[in-house]
Amino acid sequence: MAENRSHRNYSLLIGDAWVPAQSGKSYDSHNPYTDHPWATVPDGGSVDVDAAVRAARAALDGPWGAMTGFERAGLLRELAVLLARDAQALAELESRDNGKLLRETQGQMKALPDWLNYFAGLADKIQGDVIPSDRRNFMVYTRHEPVGVVGAIVPWNSPLLLLMWKLAPALAAGCSLVVKPSDYTPVTALELGSRVLEAGIPAGVFNVVTGFGPEVGRALVSHPDVDRIAFTGSTSTGRAIARAAAENLTRTSLELGGKSAQLVFPDADLDAACNGIIAGIFAASGQTCIAGSRLIVHESIHDDLVDRLVDRARTIRLGDPLDMATEMGPLANVNQLNTVLGFLERATERGAKVATGGRTSPDHGALFFEPTVLTGVQPDMEVAQEEIFGPVLSVLTFAEDGDAVRMANATKYGLAAGLWTRDLARAHTIAHSLRAGTVWVNSYRVVAPNVPFGGVGASGWGRENGLAAVKDYTETKAVWLELAGETRDPFKLG
Ligand code: NAD
Repeated sequence: MAENRSHRNYSLLIGDAWVPAQSGKSYDSHNPYTDHPWATVPDGGSVDVDAAVRAARAALDGPWGAMTGFERAGLLRELAVLLARDAQALAELESRDNGKLLRETQGQMKALPDWLNYFAGLADKIQGDVIPSDRRNFMVYTRHEPVGVVGAIVPWNSPLLLLMWKLAPALAAGCSLVVKPSDYTPVTALELGSRVLEAGIPAGVFNVVTGFGPEVGRALVSHPDVDRIAFTGSTSTGRAIARAAAENLTRTSLELGGKSAQLVFPDADLDAACNGIIAGIFAASGQTCIAGSRLIVHESIHDDLVDRLVDRARTIRLGDPLDMATEMGPLANVNQLNTVLGFLERATERGAKVATGGRTSPDHGALFFEPTVLTGVQPDMEVAQEEIFGPVLSVLTFAEDGDAVRMANATKYGLAAGLWTRDLARAHTIAHSLRAGTVWVNSYRVVAPNVPFGGVGASGWGRENGLAAVKDYTETKAVWLELAGETRDPFKLG
């Protein structure tokens, strides 16, 4: 499978300059489907991060910092127009970099302008309060000022969409960014950089340093002049970042892993549930943070539902991510494939049964893994507790609603959950009992710019999207104005 298009070469974006890494080093990004190198990017280091942070600071001290929210909103809308213009090209680049289906990346790229337009609509509404003072001679008001330089670190599974979840609110709030994309998928953040400049967003507002986590990522999160870290990635990296950020007390949001449950009750529409469960675990080959990787199904419908899932899983069409008929592409890299294989081996040793799948599919390519359903999974098994990040569904059963909730809540994660029932009271009661940042009822895997997203427990800190996301990139300042010219007792508070 040859990489038949021309090889691309990229530079770092620092300020408005495209530059090599100061070390002169670079590395190749591989297309997971063809397994061929297709783009060369700089292998950045801490000196490049320093330069990018200086550029980001200069933007805040320069024209960007002086702009009104109305002006920033205008620029965000300009960028939205450019991304709509280039959605198809960006989707193809994203699919080549991470192996995700073009039908999925097209959808994600078409959604990027929605995020920019939503947050542009908020950029001119970042207003404080006038607070009635408890003293007659004071006027008190608040301002929401940009937090400053944001270090944004994103993973490989939805690189540009997850970057947009940070970029749009951060720019609306008036911050500048230094972005570190995943070393597996460095290309689209750099491509976005060229559109940011084309939109007329001032130099230094958006900087990109490509390279590896232990070098670029670590330098960014421990940089003393970074004011806010916005991270999406694995729970283990999130922990390392929280520790590094603690040193400088840098404000940090963490969107981490998950082990999300899909609960199916006896009164559910099984056709709809089957479709939603397939979407939850096999879309993007299971490589999504919200993968519905645990099916918790009532014992009375277990066999029926598993049969339907197995039948559908066996017809999932594996193949070229750029072919619009393909339903599942490869895993994104060989580490991911080995991780999935390891989980499978340990699960079957502990007694889980492979109802379908459970093996690689070399006929389709080196990194393909069949859609897999595991039955007989017990709640304490590793495959019921740990994130696999692959196309593997673990099936557990329950007898009473309370057991289903207890089982769903019995992991360290709490990102998302789905539940399938026609009973309205049950839907609300169970939704309120689930320990998760998002609960979908009779659907799965729906997100929007105006709906908060994030997790509890080991799934992270904070929420992205929604009205509150802009304020999350601001600091609140209280201004007290003494109006009467009185002198006060200097040794008394207030
Ligand atoms: P990862 O944690 O390995 O890497 C994420 C990013 O962190 C990459 O850019 C990487 O280079 C960087 N990094 C690595 N070590 C670092 C360090 N010490 N300091 C700073 N940065 C460092 O995650 P991944 O494998 O790229 O992505 C998959 C994970 O992301 C899964 O666990 C998935 O659940 C999670 N994820 C979460 C969400 C969410 O919104 N909650 C969304 C998508 C993916």
